[in-house]
Amino acid sequence: MSSIYLLLGGNQGNRAQILSQAKAKLEEELGPIMAYSPLYQTAAWGKTDQADFLNQAIHIDTPYSPMESLNIIHQIEDILGRKRTEHWGQRTIDIDILLYEEQVVQNTRLVVPHPELHNRRFALIPLSAIAADIVHPILNKAIGQLLLDCPDKLEVFLHKDP
Ligand code: ADP
Ligand code: MG
Repeated sequence: MSSIYLLLGGNQGNRAQILSQAKAKLEEELGPIMAYSPLYQTAAWGKTDQADFLNQAIHIDTPYSPMESLNIIHQIEDILGRKRTEHWGQRTIDIDILLYEEQVVQNTRLVVPHPELHNRRFALIPLSAIAADIVHPILNKAIGQLLLDCPDKLEVFLHKDP
């Protein structure tokens, strides 16, 4: 089994419910969830006409390779996205691979660690809630340190259900 760290995100529909559905599918298809961060709320990048995003990081133990995991994630995005977004043509759920063990993967379909991880507070804040001590295999810094060093100023709030 390998440790894979994912970032789930969505800004449409009942966001918390869609994240729950994604977690249930991931647990069925990819492997058991070992840890999950709280939900965080972030303003959509540069787009004031869009709803805020909810993000959550999760750690799954998976028997699958990075590329097999990507295929499974895409299937889950399709199932959850298609159902909800036919009318408006946007996706309701985005699932990105942030880390896979301390492996480096660089091909046309998959880049791990996620190439924007160290630039995005909305990814680093949830990830550091569950993986602050894990070392980024390219930058050779712990996730908690990357957060301290991150130049991004986008505010990320702990989400409280209304
Ligand atoms: P975004 O996540 O940038 O909003 P998509 O979810 O549509 O956009 O992903 C676009 C493509 O990025 C996917 O088809 C996938 O093959 C590729 N990709 C490369 N690296 C990763 C990664 N670490 N996690 C998820 N997708 C990735
Ligand atoms: Mg994605």
